[in-house]
Amino acid sequence: MNSDVEALRAELAAVAGAKFVAGRAALDGLDPGFHPDNLAADLAVHPATTDEVARIVGVCGRHGVAIVPQGGRTGLSGGAASDAGNVVLDLRRMSAIERLDPLAGTAVVQAGVTLQTVEEAANAHGLSVGIDLGARGTATIGGMISTNAGGMEAFRNGSMRNRVLGLEAVLASGAVLDDMTEVPKCNEGYDLKQLFCGAEGTLGVVTRAVLRLAPAVESAVTLLIGCANAADALKIVSACKGARALDLLHSEIMWRNYATKVAGEIGLSAALGFCDAPAYLLLELATRDGAPGEAVHALFDDPVIAGAMIDAVVAKNERERRDIWRIREESFIVDNVVPHCSWFDISVPLGRIDAVVQDVEARLNALDPEIGIWVMGHLGDGNLHYTVGSGKPVSDARKADIADAVYGGLKDMGGSFSAEHGIGTDKRASLAKHGDPEKLRLMREIKRVFDPHGIMNPGKVL
Ligand SMILES: Cc1cc2nc3c(=O)[nH]c(=O)nc-3n(C[C@H](O)[C@H](O)[C@H](O)COP(=O)(O)OP(=O)(O)OC[C@H]3O[C@@H](n4cnc5c(N)ncnc54)[C@H](O)[C@@H]3O)c2cc1C
Repeated sequence: MNSDVEALRAELAAVAGAKFVAGRAALDGLDPGFHPDNLAADLAVHPATTDEVARIVGVCGRHGVAIVPQGGRTGLSGGAASDAGNVVLDLRRMSAIERLDPLAGTAVVQAGVTLQTVEEAANAHGLSVGIDLGARGTATIGGMISTNAGGMEAFRNGSMRNRVLGLEAVLASGAVLDDMTEVPKCNEGYDLKQLFCGAEGTLGVVTRAVLRLAPAVESAVTLLIGCANAADALKIVSACKGARALDLLHSEIMWRNYATKVAGEIGLSAALGFCDAPAYLLLELATRDGAPGEAVHALFDDPVIAGAMIDAVVAKNERERRDIWRIREESFIVDNVVPHCSWFDISVPLGRIDAVVQDVEARLNALDPEIGIWVMGHLGDGNLHYTVGSGKPVSDARKADIADAVYGGLKDMGGSFSAEHGIGTDKRASLAKHGDPEKLRLMREIKRVFDPHGIMNPGKVL
């Protein structure tokens, strides 16, 4: 370790305690999470309080060292990737639920607490965070705020920014921004806390937040429905939203290529045996009154639903329910068996989904007739996840061609090339290419105001 790093390490240890500063040797033994460079930094520091975060930021500022805030390292766009010379600021020791107010439906939490921990605490009061994603046991509230995570309930509860009532952040200067309001109505000028939702650590370190909780609704019925296309799946979703005896909790879609690939790889092909369909709609429903069986019959008797589905299967027990969800959630299996894939996370206006899926497939096939395309997503908000690849290494130029094929036309139709995983390092070039120039200029100005010396997660987003 060179003397600069040694000096920095000593100063960080003076703030957080020596055992909460990890050097290269210790970092080499750790799981870097979802980006291989997450732990490429020289040092990682694990603060316990906002005051320690502020002092650590001060130390790094004096040394001119860049800080990479990290939570669970489940981010999928390289936002937590670090370089030698950086300090990783790992928030996971700040994992307290400071207060949960069942009457107000709010929780005051530290940034390093996991989604699952807050969800379980809220469930004990009949409440929920109102947001859910596959990485629930590892993703932290600070990371989810910083990526403005979406997930499976965003179509009814909004993304993470809609769950945040208040926020505390340590700025690049070491000052603490205290905007911990607990009330839904607060018009006090510019809503600065919202700038931190989706900033991916580039404007400061989120240390605490006030979350708005939602009523917890227990799922009663899980169905997998074969459909001809997304338009039919959306008719079913719409009919479920209007059903008097039901609440629609989840509406996920998987196209045939994706569902059969994942089900085959994890030994669950039989779960799709009820019908061979171009697309599968996964629904979770809660019943307001009456037995779940009655509600399902009412659903199938609805002429719109009956006309829009090819066939359906209802999970009879928890194992069948889990199997259906495994096909949807174990998407990373595709990467394991088909190396060198590219991932995409796009938003499409609901009425355009089928056209986009067809057009993207045609453009990708024109690039490479051998290319594999696996698509699934959160149907309720038009968020599609693509895994694309042929198993062979691809040059950067070819990767850009593949991205163009997936993103073509999205902006003009009011969609987005970046739905819920953020920009990080992976999509910076796409943001520069597809972002509105005036918006990008303002973003750079905002970055300069918050972080004039560029120490907050540089090289990410912009
Ligand atoms: C299996 C799986 C399923 C997933 N499903 C979904 C999904 O459905 N929807 C969805 O939106 N995402 C999903 N994700 C992505 C991921 O879970 C989210 O991006 C999550 O919000 C990141 O949280 P984290 O604590 O792991 O953050 P990290 O990965 O550690 O960091 C992510 C970004 O936030 C910054 N950051 C972290 N903590 C802070 C902080 N306290 N202050 C400032 N900046 C910070 C980092 O610098 C980085 O830029 C999934 C990931 C996996 C692995």
